[in-house]
This record gives sequence, structure tokens and C-alpha cells, in this order.
Amino acid sequence: MQRLQQEPQLGDGVIRLRATTHPEEIRITGIPVMCSSCGARRDWMVICDRSTIRIRCRCAYEWIEPELSRADYEAMIDAGGRDHPSLEAAAQAMGYDGALAGTYFTDPRPA
Ligand SMILES: [Zn+2]
Repeated sequence: MQRLQQEPQLGDGVIRLRATTHPEEIRITGIPVMCSSCGARRDWMVICDRSTIRIRCRCAYEWIEPELSRADYEAMIDAGGRDHPSLEAAAQAMGYDGALAGTYFTDPRPA
């Protein structure tokens, strides 16, 4: 798992991280994105940091997806799309800090 990078604070006020949830699969050139850490194929957090698009999994694994552009992000924004002061704040607010890792793989009913 990679360490989260701190955003430089340049004082111009425009460094705002934008993130949205995307419950469905994300297909890139017809191939569904898959988490290389836990194997999840849907339920993503999509992060737009200026021109860089990153995908984050429920298990908190995150990577830069160079095949996606800002326009792709704009097309994926749903009701959860909003600005966040930092990636960590966004991940916690949206449930992508790892606490819900693999939730859709498991049966929620008690044994
Ligand atoms: Zn994962």
C-alpha cells in the first residue's frame, strides 16, 4: 500500500481535490478496472487532482489511472461528487479509508 502524498500548499487557493464515488465498473478500452490489491471490480472512489485521475478501492489501495482524463471524471460524477480539503479527508468521508474493504464480497448477515 502506498503512502498518501501530501499536497503542496501554494497559497493560490485552487488546489482542491475533487472526488466522487462510482459504484459500477469502470471500463477502460472495454476492460473493467480491477484492484490489484484485493481484486475488486467495482465500487470505486475516483479522484481528480488537477489533470491527474486516480482510482481508489474500498481497501484503500489507490493508483494513478493515466488512461482517464478530467473529462472522464466529469462524466462519472454522481451525487457524491464534491470538493474535499485533502485526500485523507475525502477517503474517510466517503468510506474509502480501508474500513469497508471488501464489504461487497461478504455476506452482511451475522452467522
Ligand atoms: Zn482493493
